[in-house]
Amino acid sequence: MTEAMHQVLVIEDEPSIRKVLKVLLEAERFRVIEADTALRAEIEARSHKPDLLLIDLGLPDSDGLTVIRRLRAWSPVPIVVLSARTMEDQKIAALDAGADDYVTKPFSAPELLARVRAALRRNVRSTEQTSALKLGDVRLDLDRREARGSAGEIHLTPLEYRVIECLARHLGSIVMQRQLIGEVWGPERLDDSRSLRVCIKNLREKLERDPQKPRYLLTETGLGYRLRSDEEP
Ligand code: CA
Repeated sequence: MTEAMHQVLVIEDEPSIRKVLKVLLEAERFRVIEADTALRAEIEARSHKPDLLLIDLGLPDSDGLTVIRRLRAWSPVPIVVLSARTMEDQKIAALDAGADDYVTKPFSAPELLARVRAALRRNVRSTEQTSALKLGDVRLDLDRREARGSAGEIHLTPLEYRVIECLARHLGSIVMQRQLIGEVWGPERLDDSRSLRVCIKNLREKLERDPQKPRYLLTETGLGYRLRSDEEP
């Protein structure tokens, strides 16, 4: 996948932050389109059809949440939110509204770029259907439902496979707890976070070298979980 042609729409009203983002992204050979209001964002999104949106939630004419909801009505474009550190509720609302991931301000350049790349990869992967994962010593084949570690075959239950599959579809990106429960256990079990916690704990014991310090199956406190793999750069 070449990243040379990827267009990123940066939606941010603060000129200094917009400039930093533009410099960072262009150094990575992204093409950058800028918008400083919600109205502008919608116009640019419709006319340029960008590959990814980077959006600040506090905009002068409307909030970023409204932009995300309106966009999601017609576009599956990956959306990464820029949010202030203290705005936990906003973060959850943005992910619920259809954002793929978030970066907390003040952000570090490597983290921001990693999130952008992960969101773009997730988008490609959803059409490519990559099903093999490497998590340290463990190799997972989701099509065959096979897992193998240095000590041989690892048995995962069907439920555990479904959790990993759901996380793998969003590899490198956060999956909200409620989304995971809804997809794996069904919408009638949305309040049953205990089953999910137990399942994650068991998965870590099977897949992580040190289940207490997971490197691949990560908790996003108060939000959900994120699966990493060694295939990510
Ligand atoms: Ca702002």
